[in-house]
Amino acid sequence: MLVVMQAQATEEQVRAVCQKIESLGYRPHSMPGAQRTAIGITGNQGEVESGTLEEMPGVQEVIRVTKPYKLVSRDTKPDNTVIKFSDSHLKGSTVTIGGPDLAIIAGPCGIETRDQAFKTAERVARAGAQFFRGGAYKPRTSPYSFQGLGEEGLKIMAEIRDRFGLLIVTEAVDYESLDLVDQYADVIQIGARNMQNFSLLKRAGRARKPVLLKRGISATLEEFLMAAEYIMSEGNYNIVLCERGVRTFADHTRNTLDLSIVPAVQRLSHLPIVVDPSHGTGKRNKVTPLSRAAVAVGADGLIVEVHHDPDRALSDGMQSLFPDQFDALMVQVRQIAAVLGRNVPITSDSRAEVTSSTD
Ligand code: PEP
Ligand code: MN
Repeated sequence: MLVVMQAQATEEQVRAVCQKIESLGYRPHSMPGAQRTAIGITGNQGEVESGTLEEMPGVQEVIRVTKPYKLVSRDTKPDNTVIKFSDSHLKGSTVTIGGPDLAIIAGPCGIETRDQAFKTAERVARAGAQFFRGGAYKPRTSPYSFQGLGEEGLKIMAEIRDRFGLLIVTEAVDYESLDLVDQYADVIQIGARNMQNFSLLKRAGRARKPVLLKRGISATLEEFLMAAEYIMSEGNYNIVLCERGVRTFADHTRNTLDLSIVPAVQRLSHLPIVVDPSHGTGKRNKVTPLSRAAVAVGADGLIVEVHHDPDRALSDGMQSLFPDQFDALMVQVRQIAAVLGRNVPITSDSRAEVTSSTD
């Protein structure tokens, strides 16, 4: 059920409707938009008696939502969700995901050592990334593979934020790591293998930080949006979807990157969507072409694995770009973004680099 408020409804009227929904034993989710506010209702098992709400001052209409997801739907919120980051590390600038600026997230698959993380961070910051990625908790197919440094890795990333002004994106794999990631990082990544870990999704919904939700290895579009709905239904509205490839019969790549999901998501949902061409292809030589394609198809950003010495990486070296390759990727991506009226913002660390590459 969705309560659509009149364009001129006052804040008090919105509040009164929310209180009424609570008094009926449900949870209101107020979603202000450019034209009007909509209030999603969750917690109801069956139909909500709409009559009482319909009669309240400021209410335009009460609509039954027929889709299995409601809060992530464009029916609830027609305007794009734009997630804003502004903290003291950003030296006064504001970084966004979902607006005209593309979000560029780059870094190694895993945090291995302080030296490795700093060397890579320095290069991705200089190339113009606004976010640094790196796993401290690695969900590996084999229990004998590198599992990540845990909290030590999170501390290294917190130092990287201080040093380079990069926002930190890192994965949480269970309750314990989620609480720590929520403390240290700027964005909580939920990996493909956990896309349907419903208790973890709900816990992420109660976290303070935005969530980057990766598409499950064989998830349909609807399953993907339902996973985001789990997070949002707990009150966390800052969610970034991430296409990272799905399992198919094709064996020339690790996964099949499904770029068509970008416009498909944008039609159904107000949430931003970024693309991960690294896990999406598994092959270094395919990362740059698919990054170009992702930007051209309208993605809100990229998440790319970069390692200062990929041949010695402890995980995903085969798909990690050399820093020089990432520099070249950024130059191309800036040009493609411009065609779409989008922009890769010039960060303070990348200013010198961009000036020299356009000379
Ligand atoms: C990762 O980002 O390093 C990762 C493990 O991704 P995914 O969950 O998409 O496999
Ligand atoms: Mn990886």
